[in-house]
Amino acid sequence: METKQLQKIADTLRYEAVRMVWEGKDGHPGPALSIADIVTTLYFDEMNIDPDNPGWEDRDRFILSKGHACPIIYAALNEKGYFTEKIEHFNLRALHSDFQGHPVSQKTVGIDSTSGSLGNGIAIGAGMAIAGKFHKKDYRVFVVVGDGELQEGVVWEGINVASSHKLDNLIVFVDRNGWQSGGSVEDVIGGNNVAQRIGAFGWHTIEIDGNDIDQIKKALAEANSVKGKPIAIVADCIKGKGLDFMENDNAWHKGVPTDEQFRQAGIQLKGDAK
Ligand SMILES: [Mg+2]
Repeated sequence: METKQLQKIADTLRYEAVRMVWEGKDGHPGPALSIADIVTTLYFDEMNIDPDNPGWEDRDRFILSKGHACPIIYAALNEKGYFTEKIEHFNLRALHSDFQGHPVSQKTVGIDSTSGSLGNGIAIGAGMAIAGKFHKKDYRVFVVVGDGELQEGVVWEGINVASSHKLDNLIVFVDRNGWQSGGSVEDVIGGNNVAQRIGAFGWHTIEIDGNDIDQIKKALAEANSVKGKPIAIVADCIKGKGLDFMENDNAWHKGVPTDEQFRQAGIQLKGDAK
């Protein structure tokens, strides 16, 4: 798909993610907007998926390891046509809602793995990728992990096992937005040499601007040509990308827009005041 079209979809998904947080009066808009361009490129340009057959065994898999960013995934699944009818009101995070505050595969059509207890996505993805190789399937497994989340030890166990199994069908995006719930990643743990550290485990690494769809497409083309190694795309993203009052302000890790801010979101993302 043309980059311009993808950019438009990304902004639509951003608006929908903000809308569901505003309606539900709870959620994580900053982390969702950070990865909107990655999620859009995967769902609308890259992944072999069939919304009419979400359990298709040859489909590419997607795991949102930073599960709290799920509003952007719910928006993508809705736009892609995964649900029997277009969802107007998500009831995000409400008790018994199909759209929980972290993705639940038993609840929401199109979610390949429950997630949200941080750190598990790469290990789960490695398991799916090993299964794919075992069953001689061509599917790929995509994982999006946060940069704060890299502090979880299991992340590195997953990274280790993926390279020892030569999982070239595993592609991990690291959303390096520089922030985590408790503050800046630099202040919390220091060190920003993510690609170097993952590369030391034997992965193929690529560094890009994660809010530039052309760079995301190019990185995916490179990833698809790699043989015998898992791939990490370390993506510099802006937390809250797309809304001037939200960008790089970690207060929006979890927060609800006021009615006026939601109106602004309409202007900035849709060009109207809906
Ligand atoms: Mg982060």
